[in-house]
Amino acid sequence: MNKKLTYILIFSLLIILIVVMVKKYKILEKYNPNKIYYFDNNATTFVYEKSILDEITKWINCGNPSNNLHIVGKLAHGKIEECREFIANDLQVDSDDILFTGSATEANNIIIQGIVGKYLKQHPTEIYTIITTNFEHPSVLNIFKHYQEVGSNRIDVKIVNICTDPSNPYYGSISPVDVENSIKYAEHKVILLSVMYANNETGAIQNIAEIGKITKKNNVFFHSDVTQAIGKFIIHPKELNVDSITFSGHKFHAPKGIGVLYMKQKCDIEKLCYGGEQEKSYRAGTENVAFIVALTMAIKCVHTNRVEKTKELYKLRNYIKKELSNINIDVIEPKYGVTPNTLLIIVKGIDTCNKSFAIELSNKYNVCLGISSACQTAEHKSHVLEAMKLDEVNKDKVIRISMSDYTTMGECKYLVDCFKKLVEKHRKND
Ligand code: PLP
Repeated sequence: MNKKLTYILIFSLLIILIVVMVKKYKILEKYNPNKIYYFDNNATTFVYEKSILDEITKWINCGNPSNNLHIVGKLAHGKIEECREFIANDLQVDSDDILFTGSATEANNIIIQGIVGKYLKQHPTEIYTIITTNFEHPSVLNIFKHYQEVGSNRIDVKIVNICTDPSNPYYGSISPVDVENSIKYAEHKVILLSVMYANNETGAIQNIAEIGKITKKNNVFFHSDVTQAIGKFIIHPKELNVDSITFSGHKFHAPKGIGVLYMKQKCDIEKLCYGGEQEKSYRAGTENVAFIVALTMAIKCVHTNRVEKTKELYKLRNYIKKELSNINIDVIEPKYGVTPNTLLIIVKGIDTCNKSFAIELSNKYNVCLGISSACQTAEHKSHVLEAMKLDEVNKDKVIRISMSDYTTMGECKYLVDCFKKLVEKHRKND
């Protein structure tokens, strides 16, 4: 009798353990025709947390934070300042140095055009050099291109290329030595360097702290767009030796249309947009209280247990990488490091281009993912793949898989299965 009871007990414990494991790791994910398998989180993420959605609803109807005289205005003002304080603490900077914007694009424009504008105004006869890289997001690169086109007599634009030599430890990223040389050999006083922390297409990480030491030594203002890094790593601008950073809420499960600019105290930049005194007049216009609250809650959520979550993401990335390598799919692997959620692959041996492949994955299997560049046309070339100097034959076979903290192992297994089926079909029939 006692023996029987022990067996029953052990059996029940085993069942409980299996249920817990399945629930935790969602190992037995089955195809669900109504489910979307979303692997395009570098493009945008979704607001999943109910508490965040509830707060958005609560704050969508609030007073004007600038009308501080009455109770509803005061409430809105107080809430924004509470959020500013929280974000400042998260970044370990002064809350006076945090500005809310409508997007990372806007924040990049405010800081880059603000620095250039300040120098042009203060010293009307000087010529200055500004430096960036050839794989920045268009919200940075196109500002520099704009100066190349219209500011050529006063602004000299230098572009540092990423390393394309596979034997270089910075292959796929920016080498600090190249940055140092670009400053050293610049024809004019260098007033600004802008280098992104992590690339949105390849996930390549830069050695920002090292580059920051170089800009400090040379007295150059250093800006870094950390939009693709902040939900995956804890960022402390002072440790990174940067003077400003920018990011956007919709990359870490806050809504689209809210961004942040941190700029070191007393930056004293030229204003881009004239209007009211909101955000110290650098971003005039009534603040979006509901989305500021949502961004703050999302950053709190995404940075809780960040180290463990990042480890989990690397595990999922390694799993997909290994499984896809088994079917002869190449991975573009920058050497200095990559974000844990991003995997850029080349689907070799098929005639179908990445765009058609991605559409088929979506239509047939509900799998959503990104492509670096659509089937190669003159208008749709990815400047990042150009910067990587990828073989011409491979450029329209590139697909980006990007996960989030909500991605499960079951979903990754499903993705791999779909890839295997589709690749096999195309390798047979193309
Ligand atoms: N910077 C990087 C690295 C990005 O990936 C993005 C968005 O894709 C942006 C800036 C622009 O962000 P937003 O959509 O908030 O303007």
